[in-house]
Amino acid sequence: TAGPGPALEVRDVTVRFGGLTALDRVSFTVPPGAIHAIIGPNGAGKSTCFNVLSGVYRATSGRVGFGGHELTAMAPHRVAGVGVARTFQNIALSHSQTVRSNLLTGRHRLTGSGFLSAGLRLPRARGEEAAHAERVREIAGFVGLREHLETEVRLLPYGIQKRVELARALAMEPRLLLLDEPVAGMTSAERRVMAELVAAVRRSLGISVLLVEHDMGIVMRLADSVTVLDFGRRIADGVPEEIQRDPAVIRAYLGA
Ligand code: ADP
Ligand code: MG
Repeated sequence: TAGPGPALEVRDVTVRFGGLTALDRVSFTVPPGAIHAIIGPNGAGKSTCFNVLSGVYRATSGRVGFGGHELTAMAPHRVAGVGVARTFQNIALSHSQTVRSNLLTGRHRLTGSGFLSAGLRLPRARGEEAAHAERVREIAGFVGLREHLETEVRLLPYGIQKRVELARALAMEPRLLLLDEPVAGMTSAERRVMAELVAAVRRSLGISVLLVEHDMGIVMRLADSVTVLDFGRRIADGVPEEIQRDPAVIRAYLGA
């Protein structure tokens, strides 16, 4: 991959659905190479924030900058094209296809965007298909899926399917990875594997990570910094140790 990319700068983002303000002037920054988490009770606006960043929802106002790009006005495929890839809370893989074919699909979506060819450090003479195949093998190795490459996704256990989802996002050669509840529904053993993988994505690949997660243990272990949302507002922002002690955060979680 191309190594650490630019910072993600979210500035005063507001999203309204009719009379409901799902996000109210929310700001935060994900520095290059950082793992930043967004937490908050149900309905706080976490998924809305993700959907704005990935081009699924349009912000009512505010800006999202990534390098020279303004993400708020971009369609989802263009967001991926500038190096921001996401996973979905509900797996959106092609279940009747093999792991290999799902990863190749992730790459082919980007072909022609210009970004992917910059990320491929393989000689052109080897041919584009061979280069894609080799990169898919590397990524599968990185996430521990090599033995499952020829298996149809529907035949794999849930925890491994979630790893396929991560691998498919990595196949898009992102510089920033958006993970929506990566350990939801997993056993504690599967959670440990996924947490270690997310840490490795940052450590070994230099990819920044924005994580939405309910599992506080995972957030405290993985995140460099945390933004806490409640009813669409940012109520706290800081390192995990500060966040855990913050009275407003404790109130929001206890519903007091
Ligand atoms: P979280 O992911 O933190 O649980 P969401 O971002 O899903 O919260 O939701 C924040 C608020 O916005 C909720 O009140 C939710 O009902 C509302 N909301 C989210 N998406 C939509 C939508 N497409 N249309 C209307 N309201 C929505
Ligand atoms: Mg959500």
